[in-house]
Amino acid sequence: MLTLEEFRQHAHKVVDWMTDYYKRVEELPVKSLVSPGDIYGLVPENPPEDPEAMDKILNDFDEKIIPGITHWQSPDFFAYFPANSSYPSVLAEMITATLGTQCMIWETSPAAAELEEKMMNWLKKMIGFPSGFQGVIQDTASTATLAALITAREVKSNYTINEKGFGGNENYRIYASEETHSSIEKAVKIAGFGRKNLVKAPVKRDFTMDTQALEQLIRTDLNEGYTPLAVIATLGTTGTTSVDPLGEIAAIADEFNLWLHVDAALAGSALILPEYRWMTEGIERVDSFVFNPHKWLFTNFDCSVYFVRDTEALIRTFEILPEYLKTGTRGAVNDYRDWGIPLGRRFRALKLWFVIRNYGLSGLQEALRNHIRLAGEIKETIKNSHHFELMAPAPLNTVCFRFNPGNFPDEELNNLNAKLLEQVNRTGKAYFTHTKLHGNFVIRFMIGQTNTKDEHVYRAWELIDKTAASLI
Ligand SMILES: *Cc1c(COP(=O)(O)O)cnc(C)c1O
Repeated sequence: MLTLEEFRQHAHKVVDWMTDYYKRVEELPVKSLVSPGDIYGLVPENPPEDPEAMDKILNDFDEKIIPGITHWQSPDFFAYFPANSSYPSVLAEMITATLGTQCMIWETSPAAAELEEKMMNWLKKMIGFPSGFQGVIQDTASTATLAALITAREVKSNYTINEKGFGGNENYRIYASEETHSSIEKAVKIAGFGRKNLVKAPVKRDFTMDTQALEQLIRTDLNEGYTPLAVIATLGTTGTTSVDPLGEIAAIADEFNLWLHVDAALAGSALILPEYRWMTEGIERVDSFVFNPHKWLFTNFDCSVYFVRDTEALIRTFEILPEYLKTGTRGAVNDYRDWGIPLGRRFRALKLWFVIRNYGLSGLQEALRNHIRLAGEIKETIKNSHHFELMAPAPLNTVCFRFNPGNFPDEELNNLNAKLLEQVNRTGKAYFTHTKLHGNFVIRFMIGQTNTKDEHVYRAWELIDKTAASLI
C-alpha cells in the first residue's frame, strides 16, 4: 500500500496524466471500438493475493482500460446529450474525493449543506425562477422525477399510501407526451402506479405535446372513473429537444388539480440565457422542476438539481427519523437526507461553486450561445443541401437530420442512414447517435461538449457529407 509521500508522488503523476489526456483526447477514437468481452478478458480471474505497485496499476489502466472508454470529454462527441465536465469541476471532484465526506445531514458537514442551499439559490437566480422554489441536489433526473411522483402521490392521497399502501387506490393516472423520456415510465413503475396508468398524449408536428389531446385524454379518464394525478412537461425532449408548451399545460394542471412536474434535464441549463426564458411561461404553477448541470452546465456527473414549491410536502414524504439521526439542530437547518431517496450524499455543491465562480455567469452564457449558434449553422447547411433533410425544428443545440439523396423508399433510407451512422462512428473521428421519428431513422447532431469549437463541428459535418457521398 502507498505511504503518504508515495501518494503525493502518484497524485502528481495522475494530474500529469489528466492534463496529457485532455491534450490527446482528440486523437483517441471517440466511441470505443472494442468488442463485447474484450476488456473483461484482460482482467485476471482472481484478485491479487499480494499488494501490487501503483505504477503497474496505472500502466494497466492505460493499456487495458482506456481502449474500452468512450470519450465523452472529446470535443468530437456529438452523441446523446453531453455529460460534461470542465477543469474547475474536475478540481472540485478531486477535493470532494479527498474529503470523502458523507453529507446526509447538516451535522455531518455543515458547509456542505449550507453551500448546497446557497448554490441552489444562485442557480434559481441564474435561471430566472420566481422566489418560493427551493432546490436540492439529486444524483440524476431519474431520481428527481421519481421523488416528484412519489410526493405527488402522497399529497394527493393525504399521505396515506406511505402509511398503508395503495389499498384500492390504484386508479391514478399520470400524463406525459409520446416524446417523454424513459425515466418517466420507470418512475411510474417504481412509484407503484402501474405502467398502464402512464398515459402518453400525442405530439404535434414539431414534437411538442398536443395539449388539446391531453385535455381530451383527461376528460375520458375522468368519465371512466380514473383519478388524474400528475402531468409531466418536458423542456427539451431527448429525441429532438422539442419544448412542451408549459403555459398551456399549467392551465390544464390548474383546471384538473394535477401535480405539474417539469423535466428539463438538458434544456434547464439554457434558462441562464434570457432569450430562452419563454420556455418557463407558466412556471408559477409548477410543483417540481428538474434539470441536470451534469449535462450542459460543465459540472461533472452526477449533479441534478431539483426545485420544488412545497418543501414541506417533499420532506413529509421522505423523512424518517431513527434514533441515531436525531440532532439538536433539526428544524433549524436543512437535513438533505429528508429531501429525496438516498440517505448518503456526496458533497456535490462544491463542484457547482467552482464552476459557477470560475466561468462566471457570462462565461457560461457564452459557452451555451456558441453551441446554439453552431447548431443553427448546421441547421442552415442541412436546409440548403439537396442531399440532407432536416427532420425536426431544432430549437436548441441538437439537429435531427437524415441523408436523403432522392428516389429511395423510406425503408431503404432507414438502412442507408443506419449505415452512414455506423461508418462515421467507426472512423473514431466523431460520435453521433440516432433516434426514430415517425418511423424514420434520424441522425442526431448534438453540439454541447465543453471543448467543442467551430472547427470540430465543421470537420464533423465534412465527415458526414463525404461518408454519405461514398455510399451512393
Ligand atoms: C437525460 C435525460 C433524463 C435522464 O437523466 P438522468 O440524470 O440520467 O436520470 C431525463 N429526461 C430527459 C429529457 C433527459 O434528456
